[in-house]
Amino acid sequence: MAERPMEYCPFCGTRLEHRYHEEEKREIPFCPACGDWRFPRYNAAVVMVILNEAGDRMLLVKQNHEERYYLVAGYIDEGETAEHAVVREIREETGLRVTGCRYSHSHYYEPSNTLMFCYVVTVAEGDFVPNDEVDDAAWFDPGTVMEESVPKHSLAIELLTEAGY
Ligand SMILES: [Zn+2]
Repeated sequence: MAERPMEYCPFCGTRLEHRYHEEEKREIPFCPACGDWRFPRYNAAVVMVILNEAGDRMLLVKQNHEERYYLVAGYIDEGETAEHAVVREIREETGLRVTGCRYSHSHYYEPSNTLMFCYVVTVAEGDFVPNDEVDDAAWFDPGTVMEESVPKHSLAIELLTEAGY
């Protein structure tokens, strides 16, 4: 379910007002009880284009008993950096070790009010040790992954296109 824009103060529950913010030069939600501005809040996640060290194979995973393969992704924990989340999620979901990590772009995903940070990551090729969340992981040819492997009109297609694939 889509999360609606913040209507109530997340700290005290008072209904927010929209007040003109002099420095932002636009209306920003304001809590009259706390006497403070309430800027937008998002969930934050990382999504990874995972390549082998030669750059000729792309790793995708299957989850939730679905037919198609997807990019590895996960939420950033509170207090965690995006780069740390990249390494942690890949280790947790595949058991593979990250050897390189380059920021690509960000993408706002409205259905879950999530700001996604997309990274192009290199991993040392080794044996998958998928966790309970992952049904299967497999290497694909990056040249055909868009046509053959990920669902059409999917977020994965958008992310891969924006990352230059
Ligand atoms: Zn408040």
